[in-house]
Amino acid sequence: MKKVNIYWSRRDFRLHDNPALYECVQNCRETHSEFLPIFILENYMLKAEPKFQFGYPSRYFLAKALPEFGKHFENFLLLKGRGAETILEMQTELISKYKNGLELQLYVNEDVYIDFYKQIKKLKKHNIVVKVFNDQLTVDKETKSNNGLGNYYSVFTPFKKAVWKEFLNSKVLPKPDLKSLKYVKINHINKVENTFETIWHEFSKNRKLEILVENKKEVVDIEQLLDFKPDFQNLENFIYEEFEAQKHFKKYLEHELRNYKENRDSLEKDQTSKMSLPLAWGLVSARYLKKEIVEHFDDDFSEINWFKIDDKLAGSIQYISELIWREFYKYLFHHKPELMNEEFQEKFRYKVKWVDSKIAKERFQAWIKGETGYKIVDAAMMQLAKTGWMHNRARMIVASVLTKNLGVDWRWGQEYFRAMLLDLDEASNNGGWQWGASVGADPKPIRIFNPYLQAENYDKKNIYQKKWLGDDRFFFGPEPLVDHKVARNDALKRYGLSQEKDGEVRDY
Ligand code: FAD
Repeated sequence: MKKVNIYWSRRDFRLHDNPALYECVQNCRETHSEFLPIFILENYMLKAEPKFQFGYPSRYFLAKALPEFGKHFENFLLLKGRGAETILEMQTELISKYKNGLELQLYVNEDVYIDFYKQIKKLKKHNIVVKVFNDQLTVDKETKSNNGLGNYYSVFTPFKKAVWKEFLNSKVLPKPDLKSLKYVKINHINKVENTFETIWHEFSKNRKLEILVENKKEVVDIEQLLDFKPDFQNLENFIYEEFEAQKHFKKYLEHELRNYKENRDSLEKDQTSKMSLPLAWGLVSARYLKKEIVEHFDDDFSEINWFKIDDKLAGSIQYISELIWREFYKYLFHHKPELMNEEFQEKFRYKVKWVDSKIAKERFQAWIKGETGYKIVDAAMMQLAKTGWMHNRARMIVASVLTKNLGVDWRWGQEYFRAMLLDLDEASNNGGWQWGASVGADPKPIRIFNPYLQAENYDKKNIYQKKWLGDDRFFFGPEPLVDHKVARNDALKRYGLSQEKDGEVRDY
C-alpha cells in the first residue's frame, strides 16, 4: 500500500507557522508517506470575470509569489483546473500508478474563499482523508459572550478582551524540515510550469479590471475610467516572499512599533506596518507577528490593565489589538458569510435609501477617478489606483464619504476595493465597508466623517494630498460634488435618522 500526503497550498505561502504544511511533513516522516505539495490555479482565478472578482492585483501577486514559494520544495506541483475535481483527477492517476493500493491524505489550511467546504466535502466522499487546520483565524470560532444567552460577539471591545489571552498564548509552529523527503513524481495533464513568466502568461490572457455593481447587472470598466493603467508594481513595500516579509517586520519592530499608537492615523507620516499584504496572502501568520512582538519587548502582554496602559508598551498593545480586529472580522464572516451582500444590522438591512441609480453611477465614477472635489478623498483614491493599497485612515474616510456624503450603496465600494486591493482580505474588506457605512457590527454611533476635519487632523501640512494629487489637482481641483452640510443632513434622512437622538450620530 502506497501512502501519499498532499499539502494543498491556498493562501499560505510560507514555511514558518504553517499548520497544514507542518503536520503533513511530520506525518510523512512518521508513516513513511510520500510528499506532494500542490497549488491549483483555479478557473475563477484565470477568468478575470467581475463575477468571480479575482482581480488583476491578486493575479499579479500570485504570479510573483508562487514561483518563490515553489522554490522551497524539490518538486512543487502547480496545476490548472477546479479545486476538488483536479485533486480527484490526480487521485485517479495515482491509483493507476500504484497498483498495490493507495492511501491518500490531504492537508489544507482552512480558507474562507469560494466554496471551500463544498470542495472538502467532495474530496471526503472519494476516500481521501482530509485534514483541515485552523490558520487564518487564530482564536476559537465558537467563542461566545458570557451574557447568558450564548450569543456570538457582535461588538469589538468585549470580543478583544475575551480572546486576548488565547491569542497571546497561541502556539507558533516552527519551520518544517523539508530535507530528505520522498516526493511523488506525477505528470498530470494540467501541470503548469512553475515560473513567473508562465503563470503570468496564464493570467495576462485576460487583463480585465472590471467590477459588477447594481445586483450584478452593471459592469464598470475601471481602466477606461482612469486615464492611466494601474500598475501595482508601484507599491513601495510590495512584498511577495516570506523572508522579505519577516525582515520588513523586524525593521518595523525595531524602529516604528513603539510609536504605532500615536502615528497609526497620520496620513502624512504614513508609518503603519504595511503587513496587510503579507498577512492577506499568508506570507506570515498573525501568530508569528505576535511572537516577534513578545520576544522583542520581552513581555508576554497577557495581563493588561486596560485603564492604565504602560507608555512603553502602548504601541505594541495597539498593534496586537489591530491584529485582533482582523480576527474579529474573520470570526463574523465565518458565522455569517451572507454579510458579503447583507447588512449586519437588521434595522438597516436593505432599508437605507441610497441615491437613485443614475446619480449613483455618476458619483461612483467621480469617486473612482478621484474627482469628488473633497481633496482628501481624491488623494486617497489616487493612492489606491496607483499602488493597489490605501492607508487605513484614508479607507475609513473614503468609505464614509461614498456612503454618507454621496449616498452610494456600500456594496459598490466593496466591489471596487475587491478589484483593486493587493491586500484584499474579504472579511476585513467587508467589515471595513460595513463599519464605514455604519451598517455593520460595532455600529454605534452612526459616524459621519467630515472630510475637511479629517484632512486637518491627519494631513495637517497637506503632504499626503499633494503627494497623490500633484500640485495642479491639489490647488485647482473640482468643487465638491455635494456640499458637506447638505450631504450630512441628506445622509441622516437616508438612514431614517431625521430626528437626531442624543449620541446616535457623531461627527468626526
Ligand atoms: P497596520 O496599521 O500596520 O496594522 C497591522 C495589521 O493589523 C494590518 O496589516 C491588518 O492585518 C490588521 N488591521 C489593521 N487595521 C485593521 C482593521 N481596521 N480591520 C482589520 N484588520 C486591521 N485590511 C486588509 O487586510 N484587507 C482588506 O481588504 C481591507 N479592506 C478594508 C476596507 C475598508 C473600507 C477599511 C476601512 C479597512 C480595510 N482593511 C483591510 C483594514 C485596514 O485598512 C488595513 O488592514 C490596513 O490599512 C493595512 O495597513 P497596515 O498593514 O500598514 O496596517
